[in-house]
Amino acid sequence: MSLAKKTLRDIDPAGKKVFVRVDFNVPLKDGVVGDDTRIRAALPTLQDLLSRGAAVIAASHLGRPKGQVVESLRMAPVAARLQELLGDAVPVKTVTAVRGEAVREAAAALQPGELLVLENLRFEAGETENDPELAEELADLAELFVQDAFGTCHRAHASTAGVPERCKPAVAGLLLEKEIQAFDQAMGNPKQPLVAVIGGAKVSDKILVLETLLEKVDCLLIGGGMAYTFLKAQGHEIGSSLCEEDRLDTAREVLAEAVARSVELMLPTDHVVADRFAEDAATQTVNGDIPEGWMGLDIGPETQAAYAARLADAGTVIWNGPMGVFELEPFSHGTSCVAQALAQSDAMSVVGGGDSVAAIKKNGVEAKIGHISTGGGAFLELLEGKELPGIAQLDYIDSK
Ligand code: ADP
Ligand code: MG
Repeated sequence: MSLAKKTLRDIDPAGKKVFVRVDFNVPLKDGVVGDDTRIRAALPTLQDLLSRGAAVIAASHLGRPKGQVVESLRMAPVAARLQELLGDAVPVKTVTAVRGEAVREAAAALQPGELLVLENLRFEAGETENDPELAEELADLAELFVQDAFGTCHRAHASTAGVPERCKPAVAGLLLEKEIQAFDQAMGNPKQPLVAVIGGAKVSDKILVLETLLEKVDCLLIGGGMAYTFLKAQGHEIGSSLCEEDRLDTAREVLAEAVARSVELMLPTDHVVADRFAEDAATQTVNGDIPEGWMGLDIGPETQAAYAARLADAGTVIWNGPMGVFELEPFSHGTSCVAQALAQSDAMSVVGGGDSVAAIKKNGVEAKIGHISTGGGAFLELLEGKELPGIAQLDYIDSK
């Protein structure tokens, strides 16, 4: 498996107008950008294009304005932050619309080495509807398309799928390339053993991921709320833990499939349980069955040690989904243990999912992880083996 798609290296952007779909969907507070990780993540692609003499039109969505202009979701604060990061040598211009005369004029006037930030794409209803007219209008602004918004590639929107369908060549940016390469290395050509750690709240969110992983992994470690549906399916008492009664059969099928494929599927053997879902709840650690009136909110120390041992010996690790309710301190230890075990392991590690990445950052081990994905939903869909619409529309290496 490989990307097989053209990248920045396959184009000569000098003197061209280049439309770059970036992911500038950052948190804003009182009109100021909070965590600017996503803006920084786009810099390598933007700087590469600018230094090679392109006139760059950068476009992103921001929040959920639902097809209307929402003053608090304008791109101006993002453009201001981008200007700070790029420095004065690169003029960052803005336009307060996504389409129309003002946008066409601003794009036409843009010079090599300059950057224009379009207004929030989702101010236009046609963006999420992949409206052909909007896509056409955006595609007409440029002579080249670069996809770098990995976090939005699972959406078939006008800017992610409609524009690259019409604006050719359409190639992958450096961030997207990094995401795909890390994923391909981990799933397509992994150093053995390949271990997956899957957690989070529900089986139903992750069932396709589990099914796809069973075809590839040597070992599957399950934690989080979804573990209890599995444990109940095995006949354990789970107290008032999260359980999807309508997924018990699914859980049994996954367990049977793991046996059929000789995948070592591990479930928690001990639990941190609470008498209610709260930071100050009464807690205890129990082995095996969970007594009535108690709910499992984290994996226990014995499970932590067993999972950490598998991660220490792994060649490659994929992680998605916390092992417990890590947002609350008493139930954060299982997730921290996995984060630390990954950091200490020599395995090539790939972590994706908003909450899992938050847990990595909370533990301060970002630098020790092979690849931290910028995608939540997009990462999950890759794990499910799906082709993402925002990648599907890019040119193949052998196409002209
Ligand atoms: P990611 O964002 O990394 O893909 P998910 O969104 O699938 O992860 O899962 C994270 C959520 O799962 C968190 O909000 C966490 O509190 C919840 N969760 C984990 N373990 C449990 C549990 N035992 N009971 C209830 N919720 C849980
Ligand atoms: Mg999440």
